[in-house]
Parts: sequence; structure tokens; C-alpha cells
Amino acid sequence: MNIFFKYLTLILDKFLARSTLIVNGDSLPKKMPIRNIVVAIESDETWCVGLKCPCGCGYIIELPIIEEAKPRWDISLNSKGKITLHPSVFLKRGCKSHFWIKSGRIIWCK
Ligand SMILES: [Zn+2]
Repeated sequence: MNIFFKYLTLILDKFLARSTLIVNGDSLPKKMPIRNIVVAIESDETWCVGLKCPCGCGYIIELPIIEEAKPRWDISLNSKGKITLHPSVFLKRGCKSHFWIKSGRIIWCK
């Protein structure tokens, strides 16, 4: 990824919550937005949540929400439509990013 965008997103995350983008379907779109957190909903069921890794490495993180998935994440949207996920997101490979998403904000774990 372009180094400019990498640092731009890191700086923006310090000040701004990420918006939510709802898509219709059971999977993430082929072309993922740079900052938005994508929620895939089909037949009234929330299937997954995805975002580009907030470290800027370009990796697309996909988190299952459906009941049957294991592991799975709990999602909630506040009155402004910002996402909170539980538990935290921890990438075991690659950049090994570990962070929480709370009200659309990326909260890094040390
Ligand atoms: Zn990363």
C-alpha cells in the first residue's frame, strides 16, 4: 500500500471514528474501502464484518458474526451507527496487529 495512505489512516484513526458501510450479501466486497468498516448483511442475518488492517499493511480482516461460526465476534452499533466489536481482533500472522474496535475507533493493544 502507498506509504502516504498508510500514515494518513494511522493519523486519522487517532482523531476520527470509522464509518460503517453496510453491504447486502454473505461476504465482503472484492474492493474494500480504505477506512470504512464493512458489515455484510443478508436475509436479516449479519454474516461478517471486515476492514483493511488498520496498521496499513493492506491485509483484509474478515470476522464472522453468525452464530454458528467459531471463533465469532459480537457486534453492536451505537446511535450514530458506529461499530463496537467484542472480543478484540488479534492477527496471529503477518503484522500481528492486536486492537479493539469501540464505537468505530481503533484502540491498539500494546
Ligand atoms: Zn496489518
